[in-house]
Amino acid sequence: MSGQILILSGPSGSGKSTLLSRLMKEFDGIYFSISSTTRSIREGEIAGVSYHYISEDEFKRGIDEGKFLEWAQVHKNYYGTSLEPVEAALKAGKIVIFDIDVQGFHLAQKKYGEIITSVFVTTKNRYELKKRLKLRGTDSDEVIENRLFNAATEMAHISEYDYLIINENLEKSYLDLRAIFSSLLVKVENYAVNQVIDDWCNK
Ligand code: 5GP
Repeated sequence: MSGQILILSGPSGSGKSTLLSRLMKEFDGIYFSISSTTRSIREGEIAGVSYHYISEDEFKRGIDEGKFLEWAQVHKNYYGTSLEPVEAALKAGKIVIFDIDVQGFHLAQKKYGEIITSVFVTTKNRYELKKRLKLRGTDSDEVIENRLFNAATEMAHISEYDYLIINENLEKSYLDLRAIFSSLLVKVENYAVNQVIDDWCNK
């Protein structure tokens, strides 16, 4: 029996974190892969929960020591997924969730393609994203412009994903994500099928 991976990508500010925290409140047993990053902590974030905040030196050491399943440079900062806890969670048959960018998605696909379900989350347009980033108030105008540029680059990869959520209405978006997640719970590979058949025959 092996676990599944659910990847969420999409522009920073599209609402991925809000959707994911709601999913994790509702369902037990999800393993959310906490990435490491060299970017500084944002107001409202918690070290060790939102990210592991580490220095660039530490990050580079991690790369050299093969500690990352994938890593990427996004908005001039490094972000990476730790290999060991993810492998352990998969071995335990869990659904592992990654909130990673398109580069990370490509790398994860190479390694775990068969067990990945991928979702791209975005706003209805560029203007809406800019508005949300400004409202969040955590980034300078320069960083916001950089994020908008990256968002446009990432949008070009939408067709590589299994599902698309255009997050105009949080309630609807959550129901869509919930439906995708629920479908993973009933995948045949989650079951010990021989056992299911034996039980069925012997009762
Ligand atoms: P933010 O700075 O807004 O938290 O994240 C910026 C971008 O980095 C987002 O697109 C997010 O999905 C991505 N990201 C976060 N963690 C990782 C990771 O471990 N690997 C990769 N490749 N991207 C990540």
